[in-house]
Amino acid sequence: MKRCIFCGSDSSCSKSVEHIVPESFGNKSAILKKGIVCDKCNNYFARKVEQPFLESEPIRKLRQELQLENKKGKTISEYQYPKIGDNQVRQISDNNFLIYFIEEKTETELETLVQEYQRYLLQSDSLLLEENIYLSRLLAKMALEYFVYKCGQTQEVCDYILEDDAFSSIRNYARYGERKIWLYSVRRIYARDKAYKGDIFSSISWEADFLFTELGEVYFVIAMHGIEYAINLGGPIIEGYNFWLKKNENKSPLYISDEARKEDYKKYLTKTASSKEKKLFYEFDAKGDE
Ligand SMILES: [Zn+2]
Repeated sequence: MKRCIFCGSDSSCSKSVEHIVPESFGNKSAILKKGIVCDKCNNYFARKVEQPFLESEPIRKLRQELQLENKKGKTISEYQYPKIGDNQVRQISDNNFLIYFIEEKTETELETLVQEYQRYLLQSDSLLLEENIYLSRLLAKMALEYFVYKCGQTQEVCDYILEDDAFSSIRNYARYGERKIWLYSVRRIYARDKAYKGDIFSSISWEADFLFTELGEVYFVIAMHGIEYAINLGGPIIEGYNFWLKKNENKSPLYISDEARKEDYKKYLTKTASSKEKKLFYEFDAKGDE
């Protein structure tokens, strides 16, 4: 019998597939098979967690700026700025901007466009980096879903998530919420429209991984449009993540060497006691990136 990883109910007849990162936030491909999240939970997340986040003003502006399509293929065009179409500015790396324009422009006009955009970026980022309860729960939801996704979406891993106490707090937080917000780490690590592997006409929408620390903690780390978020699978605090950052010169766990990753993982294993957990995470690690 298929069981939903969030509520544990029979999901054999569920019809919906679950997008790990919301579809309207730039994810078209990372999808969980039918039944991993039941229709009821899928619907709940869409209405109570994803919608309030996606419909908040800073995110709507970002969606307009990046021309992210919603489920129906529609984009947002209600804001004066950032402009879309002609005169659109994109930041593809720290100091590189790409400007689309139809009519001939002088050097000064182009400079003005970039300065205008930089001012917008500053203001926009200050809003995007603020603590957000919906985003916190969205991170919790994505953490569990990405775990299942990376482990190959097997029944075994779904059962493990449902049955092991280590996951019960984060599962309940994602699905039912709490009065208190789970803290998460948030910072910009690269330009929001960073060119994907040097191709200036595409950009990195999102990328994610897990960080295993020497303190025996596991963090879900995801960068979406250049902002890196990290949430602790074991509880509402992130001291361990800040400790790791300090030791690693504020590098992103998404951008460390394989050797460093293995080293961290080894230390994690010596710290954790449960052999079952060790086994699963071992299998997890062996699969590597897709
Ligand atoms: Zn469910």
